[in-house]
Amino acid sequence: MNKQISEEIIEELRHRADIVEIIGEQVALRKKGQNYTGLCPFHQEKTPSFVVSPGKQIYHCFGCGKGGNVFSFLMEREGATFNEVIEKLAARYGMLLPDREMNPAQQRQAAKVKRCRQINQWAMEYFQQALEAAEGKLGRDYFESRGLDAKIIQRFNLGFAPDRWEGLCQALKAKDVQDEELLLLGLAQTSQKNTLIDKFRNRVMYPIFDDRGNVVGFGGRTLGDGQPKYLNSPDTPLFQKGHQLYALNLAKAAIRLQDQVILMEGYMDVIAAHQQGITNVVASLGTALTDEQSKLLTRYTYQSVICYDADAAGEAASMRGLEILNQHGFQVRIIRIPDGKDPDDFIRAHGKEAFLKLADKALSLYEYKFARTIEKFDRESMSGKVGIIQAMLPELAKVKSPVARQGYITLMSERLSFPEAAIKEELRRHQGGSMRSPAGPPRMKTEERGTERAQAGIFRILLEDPSLLKSVEEAGGADLFDNRQAQAVFQTAQALLLAGHQALSGEDLVALIEDGDQRQWLTGVLLEDDIPGDKNKVFQDSLLTLKRSRIDREIKKLMEHLAQLENTGDASRANEIMIKISGLNKEKQTLRP
Ligand SMILES: [Zn+2]
Repeated sequence: MNKQISEEIIEELRHRADIVEIIGEQVALRKKGQNYTGLCPFHQEKTPSFVVSPGKQIYHCFGCGKGGNVFSFLMEREGATFNEVIEKLAARYGMLLPDREMNPAQQRQAAKVKRCRQINQWAMEYFQQALEAAEGKLGRDYFESRGLDAKIIQRFNLGFAPDRWEGLCQALKAKDVQDEELLLLGLAQTSQKNTLIDKFRNRVMYPIFDDRGNVVGFGGRTLGDGQPKYLNSPDTPLFQKGHQLYALNLAKAAIRLQDQVILMEGYMDVIAAHQQGITNVVASLGTALTDEQSKLLTRYTYQSVICYDADAAGEAASMRGLEILNQHGFQVRIIRIPDGKDPDDFIRAHGKEAFLKLADKALSLYEYKFARTIEKFDRESMSGKVGIIQAMLPELAKVKSPVARQGYITLMSERLSFPEAAIKEELRRHQGGSMRSPAGPPRMKTEERGTERAQAGIFRILLEDPSLLKSVEEAGGADLFDNRQAQAVFQTAQALLLAGHQALSGEDLVALIEDGDQRQWLTGVLLEDDIPGDKNKVFQDSLLTLKRSRIDREIKKLMEHLAQLENTGDASRANEIMIKISGLNKEKQTLRP
């Protein structure tokens, strides 16, 4: 690893550079499930074996075995050194590399981003101080009326824009901020008298952070008659509408940990949820969810729950949001808040447990569409029933799991009092014309598959739950793994976990492993299909498989030894070995799942 460029910058770049975007510039990628596939750029092929994972930010070719992260891809493709790749990416994302040559345009861009962040930070501090000052009483009263305590106000850096024409402008000009800068960041506007006045006046202020915790913009809610009710920063060099998710900086750890994100509409919904300890919650900032926002979320999870307002606008936004999330490979469920309440009101009135109960009962995409479709037809009449079934057939055809599909058919049959067999027949006819999906990447030979799968399974489950390290160590540790790469990667992971890296993700490990073969083994493991069924059982079964395969290897070695002894005629030694082999065979007998 290079010493001149700090770990921090490398980490930030690894986080910012989107692997799908960068590889997508060189390889035509197609979405397949949660990943993208394409023709491998490292070997000749006609069917795609090259897989890119936006969630894990790694790639792997199941044809030639090449794999790694965004850095190794660029190094390999462009024959560049690690430093060159870092410089190129830093320039692309407008980051300053200390002591490095940048061309003037890069320098200007990087300096501008830094300056804008600083000014926003000052503005945020101004709003926070104003909230605490005497004139901030109005703002404090408002937050209090919404049930917010001092701790949560601090955590979200909430503030207040006083009812003054030039409060912020003067405060920032005193820090040498220029008029153009105030206009550029949307903090000021030009008055009719052609002077600069504050853009946000008499509003409570919600700073908007990017996922790294930089203030990129503001939302302000009026406390008087000011229009509009909610005013957001315009597009600036830091902030683009539809590119940020409110509170992602505070929610991302919980989203990863719980492997689920809850999407809400407004600032207050999110803050109320966080205050109650429901911390995997973000908001799409007043607009319907966008492609960019969904893409941002794929870095943390693929399980989403939409919880929008129960009004017509909220229903429409839910519908669009779930389509977009679905396109990005998310599992989507929808919470419908009873009695037409907003999430904010509901959470404040009923608390965390009640909300989590609602979340448990969230509707699947199919159930939600079914509920909405039923509302559009008269389900008592035969033509209404047929209309509903016809409208739902394309949705039903999209349900991949046969179990889930059967469940939905039963649900439909019961709710509509319509025979199951007839619905199935309709579905069969509907699917008659649809295409089968193309074949996935080539598979390994079946005989190698058992131990390979077991090694991969153990690894993936271990990275999700590091507390299982002890079980692996007790079962034999590195000796369990039958190939060198797996052994070495395990030893690295073991050392890191023991050194206190509690949340060691697969992508972190990819970034830390310098040996190309080991990295390729790991990316292959991480991009294998999802582990089916009960993870604990898979883990235990995999351990048994590896223990058995280790015994097989020992027996094989002993048999070879025995064959050699037959030439020398050392009968007592041969006998010893036979006893050992018989012992191992007995041990193997006990290792049945
Ligand atoms: Zn390849």
